[in-house]
Amino acid sequence: MPKDVKVLMIDWDVITVGGSVSGLLAAKGVADAGHTVQLLEKDLEIGMPERCDGLVSMKCLEKIGIAPTNNIIQNIIKRAIFYSPSGLTAEIDASRQRVLVLDRSQFDRELAKIASKTGVDIKVGNKVINNIEKNGVVRVKSKSGVHTSKWIVNATGYSSLSNRKMTMQAAKFEVIGNWFDRDRVEIYFDQKKSPGYFIWVIPISNDTAKVGAAGNGVNQFKILDEFITAKGGTAIKKTAAQIVVGGPIENFISGHIVSVGDAAGQAKPTTGGGIYSGGIGGMLAGKYLGESLSSEDPSKVIEYENDWRNLFNKEFGLLFRARKVLERLDNNNIDKIFRAISSSDILTKISLESDFDYHSVALLRALGLKNIFQIADIVTGEKLDRIGSLLRLSKDIYFR
Ligand SMILES: Cc1cc2nc3c(=O)[nH]c(=O)nc-3n(C[C@H](O)[C@H](O)[C@H](O)COP(=O)(O)OP(=O)(O)OC[C@H]3O[C@@H](n4cnc5c(N)ncnc54)[C@H](O)[C@@H]3O)c2cc1C
Repeated sequence: MPKDVKVLMIDWDVITVGGSVSGLLAAKGVADAGHTVQLLEKDLEIGMPERCDGLVSMKCLEKIGIAPTNNIIQNIIKRAIFYSPSGLTAEIDASRQRVLVLDRSQFDRELAKIASKTGVDIKVGNKVINNIEKNGVVRVKSKSGVHTSKWIVNATGYSSLSNRKMTMQAAKFEVIGNWFDRDRVEIYFDQKKSPGYFIWVIPISNDTAKVGAAGNGVNQFKILDEFITAKGGTAIKKTAAQIVVGGPIENFISGHIVSVGDAAGQAKPTTGGGIYSGGIGGMLAGKYLGESLSSEDPSKVIEYENDWRNLFNKEFGLLFRARKVLERLDNNNIDKIFRAISSSDILTKISLESDFDYHSVALLRALGLKNIFQIADIVTGEKLDRIGSLLRLSKDIYFR
């Protein structure tokens, strides 16, 4: 090689920023393909602080490739009960959906162990300050200095979503009490307390539950304090958090920066649940980054975005519209919907047909068009227009 030709040394094939479910799975995918990958996490410990309640399906663990050990499973859920604002109830049997409550911190630690054994270089306590891409090389500035890579994976969660409409303020308490059933999740709708969302109770034992609330424009800590006072019990831990409800961002890939998980809006717009869909996002990104590096064909990475959208775009579109409808209903209308549901066989159908990870399609199939139109009829005329798009989409799915 002539003496005057400088060889640009690149430190890593991929640098992943964010050490939670989507970042760890993306990094593992790259290492699996035999490429070098460093993962930088700003917090001092993987999995801490815990901001997630860990409700997932067994199918999610199977897809992600994590063994369902007692170490990470806190509880098994068999039923779900929904409360209307005036106290009407609707209960479904969720046993077919095989729903689990994870110890989310332990789950992330388990993923970190697997990623590390695959060859991922994990550095905690290492906040990334910025990254700049030039001529196909990314310079990543973090607490430990500046490092270069061919690709960067952005797995930094909600914090990289600049659009406020993408997220919703949430509060999450750990509560000691005696008013919930160990195998039953509780969901409370009340547009005055949690506008456009709900309060949830996820038991982890006979006397301990994860209780959370989200909603626009209301202090969710205050709402949960009042809720716990009314029910009885003691909050032994309180955490503020943001859930991602705005649906996928426009482009997951920008130059040599690949966004995954919550940072790409890959959480369900109805519940903010993103372990499964964001985890799959991380896995697909890791897989195609690996293939792209092996074949030296950067264009292969786009397959990540195509595959993820094929799996989730339609589902997320429906969920997004469903949440928009919920945002516009008042307490009176929600009560009417509960009455309509309890006087039909809808709940049995949902119990039999529903899929935890694709709840819109199953829900709409179970409801059937006739029932949807009945529900629409009891919503006042002006609001009927607004649910038109949901009805059109449901028709598409129902007749698929
Ligand atoms: C209260 C609450 C309850 C939830 N409950 C459920 C549930 O029951 N089921 C479910 O499926 N989903 C649930 N979710 C959603 C779920 O937690 C997220 O969808 C999922 O954790 C997203 O994973 P992620 O890897 O994309 O991002 P995150 O889990 O948000 O992780 C991002 C990581 O990036 C790190 N980071 C951020 N910036 C930097 C930086 N500059 N440098 C280095 N590191 C950085 C953070 O410290 C963090 O570790 C809940 C969310 C909340 C808020």
